[in-house]
Amino acid sequence: MSAKEKSIKPQHNKMLNATQGLKNIMGRHFLAIEQAYRDGKPTAWATSGSPVEMLYAMDVQPMLPENSATVSAAQKYSQNFIELAEAEGFSYDLCSYFKTNVGAVLSNAGMAEGGTRKPSFMLSTDVICDTHVNWFQVQAERFNVPHYSIDVPHVVSNTTNRQYNYFKNYITEQLYEFIDFMQEVTGHEYNEENARQVSENSWNLSKVWQDIYELRKCIPCPISTRDTFGGLFPLFTMPGLKEPIKLYKRMYKEAKMRVDEGIGALEKEDFRLMFEGIPFWYNLKYFGQLERWNAIIVYEPYTYAFSKYMNPKVTKEMVLNKPIEAMSELMLSFWYVYDLETRIKKFEETVKDWSIDGVLLHNNLSCRPNSCGMYDLKRHLMDDYDIPCLIIDADMNDPRKLNETQTLNQIESFIEILRQRKKT
Ligand code: SF4
Repeated sequence: MSAKEKSIKPQHNKMLNATQGLKNIMGRHFLAIEQAYRDGKPTAWATSGSPVEMLYAMDVQPMLPENSATVSAAQKYSQNFIELAEAEGFSYDLCSYFKTNVGAVLSNAGMAEGGTRKPSFMLSTDVICDTHVNWFQVQAERFNVPHYSIDVPHVVSNTTNRQYNYFKNYITEQLYEFIDFMQEVTGHEYNEENARQVSENSWNLSKVWQDIYELRKCIPCPISTRDTFGGLFPLFTMPGLKEPIKLYKRMYKEAKMRVDEGIGALEKEDFRLMFEGIPFWYNLKYFGQLERWNAIIVYEPYTYAFSKYMNPKVTKEMVLNKPIEAMSELMLSFWYVYDLETRIKKFEETVKDWSIDGVLLHNNLSCRPNSCGMYDLKRHLMDDYDIPCLIIDADMNDPRKLNETQTLNQIESFIEILRQRKKT
């Protein structure tokens, strides 16, 4: 075998080689932001869950402060920024992404520290949480820039078709109004062909990500959270660009090679877990400790949710021909707006499809929308479906709220329970 053949042979090297390319892609995203400033191109802050595709379609450079907040956490700046925000009067219990952003702006932090530049305007939506809207209200006032917010009603189990259609039209109207808003602020015209191209890229990006998740059903699982926690960023910062599609295709190809060779991300896989919630960005290595028990996380609803094209009513044809209407449907069916009943059903299906032994639920002390109903979710999964669950108290960006040793002890006991179940 030649040296070249040896180097491409799949191995248990935990992280895919392709995922290493993520740093370059994200680096280029930040460079594009700098370039936009140099060229005087319009820029916008956007919250996750908002239609970032529409910004790309209007040639506006997006910046996602949540993404920047994770950079702060990874670089160990988030606690400092959070404490600065608290010194300004923002409560200990508020969202730590928000407080990281407040502290980063107050400190005039550079992008490498998770700072963000003053945008031409801000775009938020309450599709995931009200914090997004309030956060941008605070910051738009501080920067004195316009702020457009999209209100998204929540579909629940007894929502009627009539109500659903009303919601859809309500969002569609707001999206068309948002185009008017952008035309006024930026002077750019809406171009249908651009919108179609961006929508196609966004669709393709998401579909490859979903294909990668299909491979994670295989035993052993070819991909761990080393690839997915960071790998998710292009989905919400760059939906509409071609570049990340190539990266995801490379990840898929390499993972498929592992599957074909029967190679997993771990050398030995004894326990397959689901992790619900946002990871601890300040300590991603923490999740690597599961490997001491040959345990691997094979599915995360959070990282999967951002592949957004999950509603069977939203076909590729619709996305290409009616991108705005398709976006309204997608905003109504975003994973995180599911009511408890639908969430339980989705979890139950996922546990079966991905052959999951147990579920770790992150009771995120920052993110109440994500943690709301978690104890009910746990009770139903355990009592009605016999799915073992463990709730972990922590925070995605505030290291003060994770008790590392205590949590690890809890996980160890949980794994012991899973081990005993396997024996019986
Ligand atoms: S972490 Fe939770 S509360 Fe904070 S912005 Fe995200 S969804 Fe909203």
